[in-house]
Amino acid sequence: MKKVKCHKCGQYHDWDAVEVVFKYPKKYFDISEDERSHRVKTNDEICIIDGSAYYLRGLLPFVTTVDHKKKYCWGVWIRVNEETYKVIYDNWDLEDQSHLTGLKGYLANEIAFYKDTLDKDVKIVLTGNETRPEFYFTMDKRLMKIQSNKLDESDLIDIYHYHFKN
Ligand SMILES: [Zn+2]
Repeated sequence: MKKVKCHKCGQYHDWDAVEVVFKYPKKYFDISEDERSHRVKTNDEICIIDGSAYYLRGLLPFVTTVDHKKKYCWGVWIRVNEETYKVIYDNWDLEDQSHLTGLKGYLANEIAFYKDTLDKDVKIVLTGNETRPEFYFTMDKRLMKIQSNKLDESDLIDIYHYHFKN
């Protein structure tokens, strides 16, 4: 844990607290609370809506120049098709999943800080049975560029303020 003095508000922020986590896919919040119990099946890793829309939880990683923190990760959900869902589900407990390549999905959250991220194509990289899958933008040039840029300390603070301390 490392605290850093903020260039925006002058307070100290905890690096471990600056990552943004979406608890569910956006679609989940579109469904009224009354209906969720019979339309949504979900746990920490998977969400299935109406028995036909499959969602997977994972990380959208960014490299940072902040040395004690190798990656900044947004905690997000993606939508996958049934076939992809089955491949991932069937191999869930495999320690080495590196042979499972070419998997794709669509981001299922709107990251307001970047705007217009919902339904954007991502590549899925499975990282083993102990760690969450990683997602990388593939088709949208703007988002690909954003994800390939390294985040510095000031970027992390901007994200933190945008999402938590407006
Ligand atoms: Zn601040």
